[in-house]
Amino acid sequence: MFLTKSLAGSLVSAGIEHFDIGFTKPDSRVKLAVAAAAGTGCSVTASVCVHNGNYGETGTLTKMAAAMGADAVALNRFVPTGRGRKNQKNLLLKKQDLLTALELANQAAGDSGIFVYTGIPVEPCTAQWELFPEITFSTCHCGEVKWAIDTAGNLRTCEQNPEILGNLLTDSFRKIVERTEDSIGRFRQWRNSENCFSCSLPGECTGGCRFAEQYH
Ligand code: SF4
Ligand code: SF4
Repeated sequence: MFLTKSLAGSLVSAGIEHFDIGFTKPDSRVKLAVAAAAGTGCSVTASVCVHNGNYGETGTLTKMAAAMGADAVALNRFVPTGRGRKNQKNLLLKKQDLLTALELANQAAGDSGIFVYTGIPVEPCTAQWELFPEITFSTCHCGEVKWAIDTAGNLRTCEQNPEILGNLLTDSFRKIVERTEDSIGRFRQWRNSENCFSCSLPGECTGGCRFAEQYH
């Protein structure tokens, strides 16, 4: 289902304050959905899942999102989990293609003025952050300031982690976190690569995304 003006209005009446809209290809229905969300006055993020089939379009998508009234573009490199795991051969990015995607988005961010950030981290050992001054690079904050809650009320450290910590419909957030402190701590400490434990690169990288393709 695509977001329309009236649906966006109903969602705002129900209390929605922010829209995050998947913007993986320059589809006119998605463009209209971004415009419908922006028309409500709420903040809008266009989320671009960057994969092998669209990495050359991040500049176009960034400019389109800006033109349709989005406030930000989140660049989410493809993560091979869920249904994506099945199709990872076609979707995984080569390092050079990820760098091309960043370069194109960086230029479009400079041209259009829209705020662009990496939703899924791109580690400083994968891309030299200073080469992309228009992009804000993020680190992983799962189980810290970021959590995932599904429609059944289940709490997880992140949307890619299948481990359910508890249910917010039957327990308080505080109780669940206190009860599962060890498990959360283990997840926070887990690194995809041994290199991370002896990393001397500056910055606050906490090992990048625990589920994404690693290039180091
Ligand atoms: S902590 Fe790991 S992912 Fe981050 S820069 Fe160092 S080696 Fe790369
Ligand atoms: S593990 Fe990956 S997907 Fe999960 S919060 Fe961290 S960066 Fe995001």
